[in-house]
Amino acid sequence: MGRHKQHKPRRSREGTEQPPVMEESATEWFGTAFHSTAGMQHLDVRQSGNGILITSAPAEVDGVLAGWPLRIRNDDDGQGLTELGTALASGQPHGIVGETGPGYERVLMFIPNHPEEGVGTLARIRTEHGPDGAIVFERRAERPMALWAEAGENLRRIVPLLSPDAPSADEPEESTPCPGCYRPVYDSSSSGMLIGAGPLPLAGLCRLCVNGTTLRSLEQVDVPLDARQRAVLESVSAALV
Ligand SMILES: [Zn+2]
Repeated sequence: MGRHKQHKPRRSREGTEQPPVMEESATEWFGTAFHSTAGMQHLDVRQSGNGILITSAPAEVDGVLAGWPLRIRNDDDGQGLTELGTALASGQPHGIVGETGPGYERVLMFIPNHPEEGVGTLARIRTEHGPDGAIVFERRAERPMALWAEAGENLRRIVPLLSPDAPSADEPEESTPCPGCYRPVYDSSSSGMLIGAGPLPLAGLCRLCVNGTTLRSLEQVDVPLDARQRAVLESVSAALV
């Protein structure tokens, strides 16, 4: 886990999306897109037991904005995960049939360039059978296609590193949102704490907030930030001076 490479922000498509910020290590990858109205949109891909955990924060979870941890088991020697990674990386539609029950089935779908060009949607969809069959988007995350592509490339990179002998981790690892950027921070994520930085609780900050990357990125783009995030990031900045 010693390798930490941080990409310089790069230009994505024209439009509202701003250059994403990304970082990666051997079995983890993390990226953020800056959206002019939706704010910071995070994606985190990491090993979880013998599978992969993809966390979209925020995502639409049962109609409200929340983190969406999606754990996909590796039951077929990496084939299914590699296919998903390839679809994300190449911007191709992809579906994975999940749970089926009486009268319904759940599918994980990647829908590229939807609802608009340059934006892709990952969704968990429940389809009811029968004449009144409803299609319900139970979970939905929209991100720039460029960020999905990076996530897919890193998914493909991590899958061969999964150990077939790893325990299958019944419950996905819990994450807590970084108080500065709401990135999902896992125990294994690089994070840090600033001491004596003022009255705000600054524990659990992600590394990009601690080292000032988040604030520097936000200075280059115009994205909405709630008052609490702004207060935390300004406290960090004051502590760094
Ligand atoms: Zn952060």
